[in-house]
Amino acid sequence: MIRIGLIALATALAAAAVPGAALAWGDEGHEVIGTLAYKRLTPKARKAVDALLARDNDALTKPDFTSRTTWADKYRDSDRSSTQLRYLATRQWHFVDVEIDGGSLDAACFGRPALPDGTAASAGPAEACVVDKLVQFKQELADPATPAAEKTLALKFIMHFVGDIHQPLHASDHQDRGGNAVAVEVPPSTRQSNLHAYWDTYLVQRLGTTVAAAAANVRQVITKSKVQAWSGGTIDDWAGESFAQAKATAYDFQGEKTFVDDHGGTGELLDANYEARALPVARQALAKAAVRLANLLNEVFR
Ligand SMILES: [Zn+2]
Repeated sequence: MIRIGLIALATALAAAAVPGAALAWGDEGHEVIGTLAYKRLTPKARKAVDALLARDNDALTKPDFTSRTTWADKYRDSDRSSTQLRYLATRQWHFVDVEIDGGSLDAACFGRPALPDGTAASAGPAEACVVDKLVQFKQELADPATPAAEKTLALKFIMHFVGDIHQPLHASDHQDRGGNAVAVEVPPSTRQSNLHAYWDTYLVQRLGTTVAAAAANVRQVITKSKVQAWSGGTIDDWAGESFAQAKATAYDFQGEKTFVDDHGGTGELLDANYEARALPVARQALAKAAVRLANLLNEVFR
C-alpha cells in the first residue's frame, strides 16, 4: 500500500510540474467524470452528444466523450508558450475564485455581465467565471438556432467545466490563486507540490491508479438517494457547495505540521489525517460532477 502511495504521489507531483497540469482536475479526474457521466445519459441525449462529437475533428484530444472532457484544458494550453491567444481568452473560464474571507460570487464573476448581444459564448470576454460560462454554454446547446460548430464547442466546454466547478479549489481563493501558491509536502516524501495540485491530481490517483479503477471507486457513492439530493439546485449552488468544501476541508490545516524549506519558504505537511478528511470530499465531488453533467445533458436533449 505504501509503495503504491509513493508511486501515485511521484506521478502526481510529476504531473503537477507540467505547466498547465496544476490548473484543473488533472486529466484523470475529468476522465473519471466523463466515464461515469456517459453511462448515465439517456439514449436520446447520448445520440445527440455522439452526433455533435462525431462532426468534430479537433486533434487536441482523442474524439471519444471521455477524452473530450479534457479538451478545454488542452485548448487553453495549446498556445500558452507562444501567442497566448487561446490561453488569455479562456484561462479564467475554468474557475470562480471566491475569496474565503468575505468573498462573493458576484465579485469572483467580474460583476456577472451579460454576454454582449450577438456574441457566441465561445468568443465571449476573457473576464468571465466558470459559473457564467456554464450558463451561457448550456443556453447555446439548448437553442435550436445555435450553429452546429458552436454547439460542439459549447458541449466540449460544458463537459469540462462541470468537472472544474466541482473541484473545491476551483471555487475558492485565499489570496493564493486557488491554493496554487500554498506549498505542500506529503510525508514521507520531501518533494514539494502545491495545495491545488494535491486536490487536482494526487487525491484522484489515491482513488485509483487508472481512470477505470478510480471511476469504479467513485461510482460506489452514487446511490439513488444521493442522485436525488444532487439533482436539484442551480449552477450557482454548485459553486457554493464547492466553496463550502474548500473552506471546511481543503483549507482546514488543523493538526497539520508546517515545514520550512532551504530557501526559508514555508508550507503545509499534509499527513494521513488530512488525506482521510480530504479523500471522501474529493470522491463525492467527482461523483456529483458526473451525475450533474449527465443530468444537464439529459435535460438539454430531452
Ligand atoms: Zn479546467
